[in-house]
Amino acid sequence: MRVGFGYDVHRLVPRRNLILGGVTIPAPFGEAGHSDGDVLIHALIDALLGSTGLGDIGTLFPDSDGKYKDISSKTLLQQVMAFLGENHWLVINADTTIVLEKPKISPFSGEIRKSLAQDLNLPVEDVSVKAKTKEGMDAAGAGKAIEAYAVVLLEKEN
Ligand code: MG
Repeated sequence: MRVGFGYDVHRLVPRRNLILGGVTIPAPFGEAGHSDGDVLIHALIDALLGSTGLGDIGTLFPDSDGKYKDISSKTLLQQVMAFLGENHWLVINADTTIVLEKPKISPFSGEIRKSLAQDLNLPVEDVSVKAKTKEGMDAAGAGKAIEAYAVVLLEKEN
């Protein structure tokens, strides 16, 4: 068994979609980024890769590579899951937290869980998506940034 931890932060800017776990959340701004900017999936990918010692999102999908421009992060997660499968790793569960001042994520957390569970090959009960505000503090609190944290447990197949 291995535990993995991931963190990511993106700036929030106008004229971008706010995408979390592959779900588009209605908002007048979204994550800046080379890919679609899905900060939650990026944190999750780093947790998955970190647990196994197989690198991180930047080494697998360098933002200097034009082929990842505006790519769906769900596609990246699916590629990471295939890579973990080739290396005989199974995901046991994933626990995540989004830090965002607004909009409220709770109306969408069920859909986000379902989306992530599908990509992680897990029942929805084994995927947790929580959201918190920064209570007005720092860049996330000012609505200028969004953060995500992820913890995963993996097991190596015999
Ligand atoms: Mg990122």
